[in-house]
Amino acid sequence: MSDIVKVVLGISFIFVMTSLGALTSFLFKDKVSVKFNKLIVGFSSGVMIAASIWSLLLPAIDGASNYGSLKFLPAVLGFFVGGLFLALIDFICKKLNHCGMKKSSKLFLAMTLHNIPEGIAVGVAFGSAWATGDASAMALALSLAIGMGVQNFPEGMAIALPMKQATGSKTKGFFMGVLSGLVEPIGAIIGFFLAASITVIMPWALSFAAGAMIYVVVSELFPESQVGEGASLGTWGTMLGFMLMMALDVGLG
Ligand SMILES: [Zn+2]
Repeated sequence: MSDIVKVVLGISFIFVMTSLGALTSFLFKDKVSVKFNKLIVGFSSGVMIAASIWSLLLPAIDGASNYGSLKFLPAVLGFFVGGLFLALIDFICKKLNHCGMKKSSKLFLAMTLHNIPEGIAVGVAFGSAWATGDASAMALALSLAIGMGVQNFPEGMAIALPMKQATGSKTKGFFMGVLSGLVEPIGAIIGFFLAASITVIMPWALSFAAGAMIYVVVSELFPESQVGEGASLGTWGTMLGFMLMMALDVGLG
């Protein structure tokens, strides 16, 4: 397989897998029971927590090795600013009274935000392998894209199912899932061409996305999955989503 084929395949794969995950929207009824919804929202929470740790924060810390013993610093600060960013959106919404930023829109925003640095990370790996012409670096970039792509399946599900529930439409759930993943190949193309100059900001971008995701999980998804009847389903949904993503991340990372 030539290098250009590897790059194109890798970048397409990450998008195709999110879209396949989003297709699961069609497997369920337009409106599922309250209890089953707790399981779905819990599952999305677990997926997002594990993705924040393994796909975003750990790579952010790894990528900041030039900070020496302070290599956690970009991750901690980026994470804080990511949370702050969503708190600011909340604040502005309250000031404006009704800016129509619903729970589901915030979930969509956080998920989409996190796909940008993930895409860039894949693009940077391909871009630097391309520049050096190193065959083993190219193989590594391809396996990163495959790993990222496989994780994108449950992520596509984690966005499509709650969106379907919120909008009451399978089609809308599917398209929101696809849309959230569309930014990833775009990020990858940017990362590919700017590989050399972009690596400096990667730890910040990755942890920013993690902060935004955890903020949404705690402030929006937990209350939905934990209040009222069927809370234990929500808890087990979270456990399940977390276990699945952890296994995928460690197994394929
Ligand atoms: Zn991800």
